Formats: sequence, structure tokens, C-alpha cells
Amino acid sequence: MTQHGFRKIILDTLFPLFCLGCGKEGFWVCERCSSKIRLKKIQICPICEREEEPLGSICRKCREKYPDTAFNSLIVASEYDRIAKIVHLFKYKFIPELASPLGSMLVKSFIEKNLPLPDLIVPVPIHRKRLRWRGFNQSELLGKFLSENIAPGITVPVLNECVIRKRYASAQMKIGSYQERINNMKDSFMLNRKYQDVIRMKRILLVDDVVTTGATIAECAKEIRKAEPKEIHVMAIARQGMG
Ligand SMILES: [Zn+2]
Ligand SMILES: [Zn+2]
Repeated sequence: MTQHGFRKIILDTLFPLFCLGCGKEGFWVCERCSSKIRLKKIQICPICEREEEPLGSICRKCREKYPDTAFNSLIVASEYDRIAKIVHLFKYKFIPELASPLGSMLVKSFIEKNLPLPDLIVPVPIHRKRLRWRGFNQSELLGKFLSENIAPGITVPVLNECVIRKRYASAQMKIGSYQERINNMKDSFMLNRKYQDVIRMKRILLVDDVVTTGATIAECAKEIRKAEPKEIHVMAIARQGMG
């Protein structure tokens, strides 16, 4: 029996599972509830969060104002309030099994938007100290799920170590301008030069779990950009308001 299978039996015995949505036994989120989670209908500019942009692209005004922005778009799969309970368990109660209902929301959004297939998937890294404490990087699990389910018969390669998280604390400022938030995240990531040639001219899909200010993805993308990819698109399961 695999370690995973063994762990599952232990978990099921000690803590019988009940669907978070309907209470049905045996699932974290049953298939029916999973399919009922509504996807976000309207995508907006990831910087000003005002202009409507069908593919989550950076609006013209923000492009002019922040010409150095390293990523091209952000697609957010669902509204934070709708999935807050699942996200909380996934991130803070360390339940990796939730990567699959959350990951399928990403896949559905990807297919619904008819986005071009990425060449590479890059999960937003967490600091190694946090990884040791948490046991898994939640974005890596989402990236893996996407890579295996994004298109039938295709597994998109996932690069887990092409960017390194240098700073442990990522205290996100709740106030301040976009530029101030960016400055706050400065030098949080570092490109692993080993992957430079792998990334060059590739279409990158950067995967994050929950986006807050947008400064994290912007800084992470800035490092990836040093390897001269063709495009960097970002997907996240939700965006948490700052209010
Ligand atoms: Zn259910
Ligand atoms: Zn904008």
C-alpha cells in the first residue's frame, strides 16, 4: 500500500470525512458540491481592479502607468467568499486533498476562457522554512493538478524550483498604493539561473492560491521575466479583498 493510501485509511478512520458543502460522508467536497461552485464571471484588470477585462489582462491605463509589469494577465477562478471555507482548510489546516476540488476550478476557468496552452507551469514558491513547517506548497499542488488536467492527453511540465523565495515573512501591507505594495515585496524572489534556457521564449502559467495585493505575483513574475519568456499569465483560485 502506498504511503498516501495508508495515510488516507488512518485519516478516514480517525476523522470520518463529511463534504463541506452538503455533509455527505466520504469526501472533503463531493462531486456535486464541487460542480456547484460558481466560477467568477467577470475578470478585471489585476492592477486597478476596476476595468473589466475578459481575459484578466492589464488595462491600457495601468499598462501606461506601470510599464514594467512583468506579467500579462491574471485569471481569478472564483469569488473569495464562495470558497473561503475550503481555502482556509487548504492553506491553514494543511489538507492537501483539497487541491483537487480547487484545482478543478482552475481547470474549468482555463477551459471556459479558451486560453492558449502554456509551455510551462510555475507555482509561486514559498520560503523553505515555511515549506518545512507546512509540509507542502499549496500552489505547487494546484500547479500539479493543472498540469495533469489542463488538456486531455497532455501533461504540461511544472517547474517547482525556477524561482526561489528569499524572504520568509511576506507581511502584505493592507494600505498604500500599488507601487508601495510592490516596493514592500521587493527582492522577495530570485530566479534560479539554471532554468534560464528552459524558460526562454516559453509561455508561462504562474499559479498562485489566493492573490491579495497582487504584489507577490508581480515580483515573482519580474524574476521569471529575467529569463525572457514569451508571456507570463497568472491563475489563482480567488482574490482576497484588502478591506
Ligand atoms: Zn457535497
Ligand atoms: Zn487597470
